[in-house]
Amino acid sequence: MSKRKVAYYYDPDVGAYSYGLGHPMKPHRIRITHDLVTAYGMLDKMHILRPKRATPEVMSSFHTDEYVHFLTNVTPETAEKLTYSGTRFLVGEDNPAFDGVFEFCSISAGGSIGAAQRITSGAADIAINWAGGLHHAKKREASGFCYINDIVLGILELLRTYPRVLYIDIDCHHGDGVEEAFYTTDRVMTCSFHKFGEYFPGTGTQEDKGRGKGKGYAVNVPLKDGITDESFKSVFEPVVSKILEVFQPSAVVLQCGADSLAGDKLGCFNITMHGHASCVQFLRKQHVPLILLGGGGYTVKNVARTWTYETACALGVEGEIDPNLPWNEYFEWFGPRYRLEVPCNNMEDLNVRDGSLDIVRENALEQLSRLKGPPSVQMQDVPRESLAHHLGLGLGKENERPKDELDEELARHMRYVYNLQDSGDTTSEESSSAESDHSWDSDEDGSLASSSSNPRWKRQGSPSNSNSNRVNGSSRRKESAAAKKRTRMSLLTGRYFDVPDPSSMSIQEESGYDSEHGYGIGPESGALTNGIGGGGGKRRFFMSIPPENGWDSFMGGGGGVDEAVDMRRGVINGYHAGVNGKLPHSSHDFGGLFESVAGDGEADGDDGEEDDEGRMAVD
Ligand SMILES: [Zn+2]
Repeated sequence: MSKRKVAYYYDPDVGAYSYGLGHPMKPHRIRITHDLVTAYGMLDKMHILRPKRATPEVMSSFHTDEYVHFLTNVTPETAEKLTYSGTRFLVGEDNPAFDGVFEFCSISAGGSIGAAQRITSGAADIAINWAGGLHHAKKREASGFCYINDIVLGILELLRTYPRVLYIDIDCHHGDGVEEAFYTTDRVMTCSFHKFGEYFPGTGTQEDKGRGKGKGYAVNVPLKDGITDESFKSVFEPVVSKILEVFQPSAVVLQCGADSLAGDKLGCFNITMHGHASCVQFLRKQHVPLILLGGGGYTVKNVARTWTYETACALGVEGEIDPNLPWNEYFEWFGPRYRLEVPCNNMEDLNVRDGSLDIVRENALEQLSRLKGPPSVQMQDVPRESLAHHLGLGLGKENERPKDELDEELARHMRYVYNLQDSGDTTSEESSSAESDHSWDSDEDGSLASSSSNPRWKRQGSPSNSNSNRVNGSSRRKESAAAKKRTRMSLLTGRYFDVPDPSSMSIQEESGYDSEHGYGIGPESGALTNGIGGGGGKRRFFMSIPPENGWDSFMGGGGGVDEAVDMRRGVINGYHAGVNGKLPHSSHDFGGLFESVAGDGEADGDDGEEDDEGRMAVD
């Protein structure tokens, strides 16, 4: 296989950040991956680059200033208050305000932006950023363990040079944040393969195809539990081939979320390491510039195995590497087989049983066959300085109007989408643009007004508003009022919770980091406790900071408070190794919860997994 110039972005600090004890998202997996990549001798086969950290200004090309500013203000002193405090930026229980969250995001985003620059400059054919791929982050809030959407920022960078970018997402969860960002443009095609049905984030049906000019340019492939390599390939390859044919992207961004692997703690697919990596291999063969990003992945050692193997695939050396793992700092974690593999298990493939796999494949291909060739973009019309604004993403930042009529229309569509999502949040400018938007609705083919379609700003199956989906001029205001009671699904628990109504919060509360007294909604009365049934709402599943009464009371006994706190400090200071699990069973709650979702899935039969903080998690 021919050689490719590969750039690999890695910041040695990234593994030191922690979402908190017991939280399933482990930034440390990036470091373990890097150790394996190093142990396999791959570093001297590619350009190793430490990313330039993304600044708040750069992040604001997609996210709101207000939200980015909020993240910069998370400090060890404010972290606890800001976690589950009902701020509008970190809703629900998935996204704690952990120490260093902004720096963590700046590394993740900096790597994806750097990867994009490396591609557009021609210095690399393939660029890798395993710290990226945080596809759920929204313009103005965190979601599903993601805070800053490095993918959107990276794609915006690509669009400065390239007319068309293809985004492909093989994470077990729908790539909602990226899809939403580019939902109304035909310059980015998004294609997500994901589990759908009572599963976070609840979006991603085949009814969701894009809107306005972007109609047809969002492709969704909703899947069911237990999909195997063979089934996955039978839908991935024809759909992606068809996209390459009709869209002719200038570059491809592949989000390699590893929670689609067999045995993932939060996933429900049955894909092996080789099956997952075959997506990388398939795209590498297409001779289109390629960016590989990380994403989800919660069985840490399998994530590391797979991203290591996919790095080898990028280099084209996968045939040469030893399936027996070389010695590395985390070697003992990979027992008892110490192999570079993620085997499948005996789950049933529900996609095959009911024939739904064939149906979703046909639907996707049918959608693509309707596109009339690759859209052309007159690149000279694209203002380099304010590309995000051009796409309608820089909303609220600048007052100057885009000159091109098309741009203006696009920007209006994007505002409209966000208005519907954040209906409490109406400035006069935004509401007037929504009012003037009738022409856009009318050029839809009616599917938007049909009750069978689930508009995107509603979460599927959301209990409180599933019947209020109709959108037309006359019902929009009513819609808006109903949408004030937004609900959102938790990635952790799969349960719905209410999102606080921003219009009922004072300015200080909305940007509560500014004021010591700005946290009017405390953890016990905040969003978390409102919408979750079964008395589970008051449970806090993980913490960035020890709770007031100490870990003991929180953990239900077991001791080791000081050890837990020290451990966390050690993690932050970059101390990882040599601690053998004597900690309180902080992940005990998680264990029970996740077993019911996925089980351990370790075919090699070891019963505990040492997680990235050096503790034995109770599986
Ligand atoms: Zn995921």
